[in-house]
Amino acid sequence: MCRHLAYLGPPVSLSSLLFDPPYGLLRQSWAPRDMRGGGTINADGFGVGWYPGDGDPVRYRRAQPMWSDTTLPDLAAVTVTGAVLAAVRSATVGMPLHETAAAPFAEGRWLFSHNGVVRGWPDSLVPLAAGLPVRDLLTLEVPTDSALLWALVRHRLRAGAAPGDALAETVAAVSAAAPGSRLNLLLTDGATVAASVAGHALSIRRTPDSVLLASEPFDDDPGWRAVPDGRLVVATAGGLDSRELTVA
Ligand code: GLN
Repeated sequence: MCRHLAYLGPPVSLSSLLFDPPYGLLRQSWAPRDMRGGGTINADGFGVGWYPGDGDPVRYRRAQPMWSDTTLPDLAAVTVTGAVLAAVRSATVGMPLHETAAAPFAEGRWLFSHNGVVRGWPDSLVPLAAGLPVRDLLTLEVPTDSALLWALVRHRLRAGAAPGDALAETVAAVSAAAPGSRLNLLLTDGATVAASVAGHALSIRRTPDSVLLASEPFDDDPGWRAVPDGRLVVATAGGLDSRELTVA
């Protein structure tokens, strides 16, 4: 079930997050250590989003396994950034294999990722989708549960919700409409990162001036802390808040 990570802090190379750690996203694409809910590898695509200085984020996404991309290692070696959201994908059975289905999903400053599955898709979400502007449904990037979750989160952000509230409200609504869903969501604007833990693992590693959130620790550093299920985390490079999620 997909693996994702987010980093905020002093500029680092993408390689130092994706390729260099012994259990980085590259390794997690073929040998994840903590898969749950089906799937064994994350070979159905990947995506990396990062913030070049003060500008909106840039994305690089592909429908192929991360290990088979011959361009990414060079790109990652020379790209240095202080904010990253990246993911490797294990497509849920029946969902399309296309690069537009690989996280991060994006709009403006925002990058978003979903690790999990919506039970009863798509019927279970029809009532929630009906609350979205028709235009949002017609312009959905790809017909997957993750893309619709992004449309629901984005709708709340556009209405002015704080990132943590946008995730918490979406998890509450979706878990009520589709009980048993796995809804680990990750959202950043390059300064703040919000993450829900609902059905999958998430670990955090902090230093005084950085924060890393990842589906699984990418090395054996004793600083990694597992976030309990049912929590929402909102972090900046320098601080962290956590609260209970409402999960049906
Ligand atoms: N259900 C989503 C998809 O198919 C996410 C899958 C996952 O977390 N493995 O893209």
